[in-house]
Amino acid sequence: MPITWDAPSPLFEARRLSNQIGGARIWLKREDLNHTGAHKINHCLGEALLAKHMGKTKVLAETGAGQHGVALATACALVGIECEIHMGEIDIEKEHPNVTKMKILGCRLVPVSRGTRTLKDAVDSAFEEYLRDPQNFFYAIGSVVGPHPFPKMVRDFQSIVGREARYQFLEKNGRLPEVIMACVGGGSNAIGLFTEFLNDEEVRIIGVEPAGQGLDTPDHAATLTKGVKGAIHGFKCYNLQDEEGNPLAVYSIASGLDYPGVGPQHCYLKDMHRVEYVTADDQECLDAFLTLSRTEGIIPALESAHAVAYAMKLAREMSPGQNILVNLSGRGDKDADFVAEKLKL
Ligand SMILES: *Cc1c(COP(=O)(O)O)cnc(C)c1O
Repeated sequence: MPITWDAPSPLFEARRLSNQIGGARIWLKREDLNHTGAHKINHCLGEALLAKHMGKTKVLAETGAGQHGVALATACALVGIECEIHMGEIDIEKEHPNVTKMKILGCRLVPVSRGTRTLKDAVDSAFEEYLRDPQNFFYAIGSVVGPHPFPKMVRDFQSIVGREARYQFLEKNGRLPEVIMACVGGGSNAIGLFTEFLNDEEVRIIGVEPAGQGLDTPDHAATLTKGVKGAIHGFKCYNLQDEEGNPLAVYSIASGLDYPGVGPQHCYLKDMHRVEYVTADDQECLDAFLTLSRTEGIIPALESAHAVAYAMKLAREMSPGQNILVNLSGRGDKDADFVAEKLKL
C-alpha cells in the first residue's frame, strides 16, 4: 500500500443511482474522499517525496484554479520541502479559498501579472524560475502532460487508483466490470484508473471529454475528439489550435478540464483503438451533478460529473447484470456555489 494517509479510497456501489437509471450497475471509485478532495494528492505526494529524495531544495509549479497548487502545497508541508506556486492575478482574484489555503500551508505564492494573467502565463513564469536552477529545483507538473518523464512519472503515481479499484471490484464481484470510465482533462485521473486494466481485453475503457456548449461551437475542450496532431508545452499530442498552430482558448464548465492539449499516452491509446474517447456537454454534466447529489448524497466535482453523465447514458443501454466502474476524481465543494447560482437553486 502507498504512503498516503487515506488509501485505499473506497469502491462504492451507487445503488440508488443505478436503480433510478436502470440498466447496468454503476460503481464509484471514491477519489473524492482523498485528503484535499481529489486524486491530485496521489501524484503531488509522489512528486514531493521524489524531490526530497533527490535532495532538491524547492518544488515549483503553476496552478490555474488552484487545485494543483493546494494539493502540492499540502504534500510539500507533509514531506518538509519548500514549495513555490505561480498563479495568474486573475485566477488569484477568482479562486480565493484556494489562495488562502496555499498561504496557510506555507507555500510561496507568486502572482503573475504579464500577458493573460491566467494559467498560460503562469506556466511560462514557473518554467523561467525553474530554469534559473534546474539542479536544485524540482518542477512538479499537474497532470500526465509535458515532456518525458513527466507523463510517465505522473501516470505511475496515479496508477494506484486502478490497482486499488481492480482489486476492490474483483473482491466484491469475483470478476471484472464490463466498462471503466473517467473524465479527461490532461488525463491523470483517467490514466490512473486505466493503466491496471489495459491488458484486460474484455474490459471496455472510456475517457470522457468536455463538450462544453457543443462540439460545433468554439466553447469546448474536447481535445481528442476534435483536435489535430501538434505540439504544446514541450510534447506532441492532439490539440485544439488555430490555423497557425497556436493553442486555442478552450472552454469547460469544469476548470480542471480546460486544457487545449492532452497526455501523449491518451493519444496513443486512441490511435491504437484501446480506449474510446467520448464527450459530455455542460447540460449533461450539470444534470449528473444534481442526480448523483440527490440519489446518493455525493456532490461530485464538475470534472468528475462528466464521467458520471456518460455512465448514466451508457448504463441505460446495458443490462442489470453488467457493471460500469467510474472514477469519481474529486468532490464538488469547490463547485457548489457556482452550480447553485447557475441553476438558481
Ligand atoms: C484537476 C482535476 C481533473 C482533471 O485533471 P486530469 O489530469 O485530467 O485528471 C479532474 N477531476 C478533478 C476533480 C480535478 O481536480
